[in-house]
Amino acid sequence: MALFRPWRLAMGGKKEMYNADALAGVPLKPANAADLAPDFPWPPPFRAAMFLSFDVDAESAWTGDDADTAKLLISMSYGGYEARIGTRKLLELLADLELKATFFIPGWTVEAHPMMCEAIAKDGHEIGHHGYHHLMPHPDNSLLVEEVERGLEALQRVLGVRPKGYRAPSGEFTAELLALLQECNFLYTSSFRDDVRPYRHRLADGRAGTIELPVSAGFDDWSLGLQTRTSSRQIMSTRDVLPMWMDELDEVRDWGAMLTTVLHPQCSGRPNRFRLLRTFLQQAMAYKDVWITTGEAIADRFREHERLTGA
Ligand SMILES: [Zn+2]
Repeated sequence: MALFRPWRLAMGGKKEMYNADALAGVPLKPANAADLAPDFPWPPPFRAAMFLSFDVDAESAWTGDDADTAKLLISMSYGGYEARIGTRKLLELLADLELKATFFIPGWTVEAHPMMCEAIAKDGHEIGHHGYHHLMPHPDNSLLVEEVERGLEALQRVLGVRPKGYRAPSGEFTAELLALLQECNFLYTSSFRDDVRPYRHRLADGRAGTIELPVSAGFDDWSLGLQTRTSSRQIMSTRDVLPMWMDELDEVRDWGAMLTTVLHPQCSGRPNRFRLLRTFLQQAMAYKDVWITTGEAIADRFREHERLTGA
């Protein structure tokens, strides 16, 4: 699928792999300078947390990689599923289960589908920032600042929301973006894959950055078989995915850790995926010791720990 093209470019071919000059430029230090995640208790009676989050990309998931896709109506219709059916069904599910979640929404989606996004906000869910055109952050992305500013403007104008959380479109990040989000007073980010507990970022100049709520790769429904004609990935069934998700949740409970879902209404709003998600959430709720909540709630808990410990 075309979504992976930027990574391929970034990775380069064999010529780039064996480039000694380029390799000499790789810093000899950890890529992430953040301190280790602190250990603190979740609110009683919870022993683990689930950051329940959705990315409402709609058509921008496809045009963010190639704007010309806008002319391809069937390709666009995969994203259009979110506004016609997927998001509404997920909102019904959350209302039935009395759960609150975070919805990361690109500015384009808010402007193109205001009624869908107003319904999310009206149900009391948290709204997060997810770029404007869903452009993957990259050192070559000259629109990085515009993506953040335009996304903020659209969320404010259409929904009256100033988001506290940010998730990177297509899950990539740069040091410049980390600094920019701190300048824009974001409370938390949720994109990194390097932990199972919240931690605080450290910027390149040593200052404290946003709180990171790391995502769990196994809970990204794009990687579990998106339903497209061109995807090379197999569509996985509930029988494949549910045991994997329950294994991760059970171990996360033993570790006192958190997991973060990265679900998309154009995937998890499809009937088979919807059934999987409903079953998973019901089983997680039956434990009664998993804090299923928003990013803001988890970030606030982290901040409270910092306040109590003077961190
Ligand atoms: Zn996205």
